[in-house]
Amino acid sequence: MNKIIIIGTGLAGYTLARELRKRDQESELILITHDDGSSYSKPMLSNALDKGKTADTLVMADATKMAIDLNAEIWTQTTVSAIDADKHQIQCDRGAVDYTHLVMAIGASPIKIPFAGDGADQILTVNSLQDYGVFRQALVAGRRVLIIGAGLIGCEFANDLSSQAITVDLVDLAPQALGRLLPAAAAQELQQRLADAGVNWHLDNAVAAVHQAGKALSVELKDGSRVETDIVLSAIGLRANTTMAKDAGLDTERGIKVDRYLQTSAQDIYALGDCAQVEDLHLPFVMPLMNAARALAATLSGDKTTVNYPAMPVVVKTPLYPIVVCPSPRPVDGSWEEDVSDQGVRAWYKDEQGKRIGFALTGELVKERMAMSKEIPDWLG
Ligand SMILES: Cc1cc2nc3c(=O)[nH]c(=O)nc-3n(C[C@H](O)[C@H](O)[C@H](O)COP(=O)(O)OP(=O)(O)OC[C@H]3O[C@@H](n4cnc5c(N)ncnc54)[C@H](O)[C@@H]3O)c2cc1C
Repeated sequence: MNKIIIIGTGLAGYTLARELRKRDQESELILITHDDGSSYSKPMLSNALDKGKTADTLVMADATKMAIDLNAEIWTQTTVSAIDADKHQIQCDRGAVDYTHLVMAIGASPIKIPFAGDGADQILTVNSLQDYGVFRQALVAGRRVLIIGAGLIGCEFANDLSSQAITVDLVDLAPQALGRLLPAAAAQELQQRLADAGVNWHLDNAVAAVHQAGKALSVELKDGSRVETDIVLSAIGLRANTTMAKDAGLDTERGIKVDRYLQTSAQDIYALGDCAQVEDLHLPFVMPLMNAARALAATLSGDKTTVNYPAMPVVVKTPLYPIVVCPSPRPVDGSWEEDVSDQGVRAWYKDEQGKRIGFALTGELVKERMAMSKEIPDWLG
């Protein structure tokens, strides 16, 4: 019998399983995860406070319910340690297990910088429900948070925390929030709105060291200043989990390399979600993994289908200043053309030939995102 194993029960693993079951109720399906297998929406981690949600109430279904709904076995608290592509076999805590088709949906891990100081080991990151539980527990004792990184996730947390009267310091190397995702005028307005809500900005700056200061932390910045805080949250980006694939001899770059069928360099092994790089694109967002899951479900049920990526804008969850960004997925030299009005900012990013390859919208203009997306060439057509 066809036996499909999916490693990972994040949005990628569960979305694929759901899509697969729409087409195929017969194949044996096993999902394996080293966490507890709770189904939740990861994007909600950075606006959960404002929405009145905790790590527990973010759970939409536990692993037992998911197993019933998906007509699948779900092995929780189980780590897959190795893949033998020739034998079509994985090694996990339960021993060796054979597969017909294997899917890696194993996500990415927060990038960690080894900062100096005796408080550096207390820096938190949030990339899972479990991490979020630890962060919320820390917020019970301390109401001051210093965030490293003013990218999408850093700005979203800054908005969410400040909505609950938590003191936020936001540090970034760049001179503006959201780096290359936003033109200057829009970034300036976002910074102003967050500052009005109490966020202290430390742009063009960096964390040099984190020191213990009694029960609190004292963060030393590159410009010589110090910030007293209770929690340091690092939001400087993620790196795809590629070690297991590399050890199995699969091709990897910024992610586990897959073709348009989501197939890795090994027969019958596929990858999608934050761990995967589709052709040259590593896009750790929800829309790309949804598209990938639909295509892969079709392929695994016998209808070979390639994944297509239209331009996929991302909604930045900063209700203090609504923003939608649609950056070019590939590094391209170009410049912003901004149109600033009372309604917000409408900006096109144009390449050196003047072709529109990205955009940003703010304020009331975010409603134009679908119309503007249509003017951007497909990312993978
Ligand atoms: C705070 C935050 C906010 C975000 N907001 C947005 C947003 O607004 N819009 C957007 O598009 N994207 C957003 N993202 C990104 C989006 O959430 C991710 O792209 C998506 O959730 C990734 O899902 P995944 O299943 O690929 O990975 P993960 O959710 O990381 O799942 C990986 C799974 O693999 C399992 N696993 C890993 N290794 C092993 C192993 N060896 N053995 C067994 N199991 C293993 C883990 O237990 C887990 O179940 C956000 C991300 C964060 C962190």
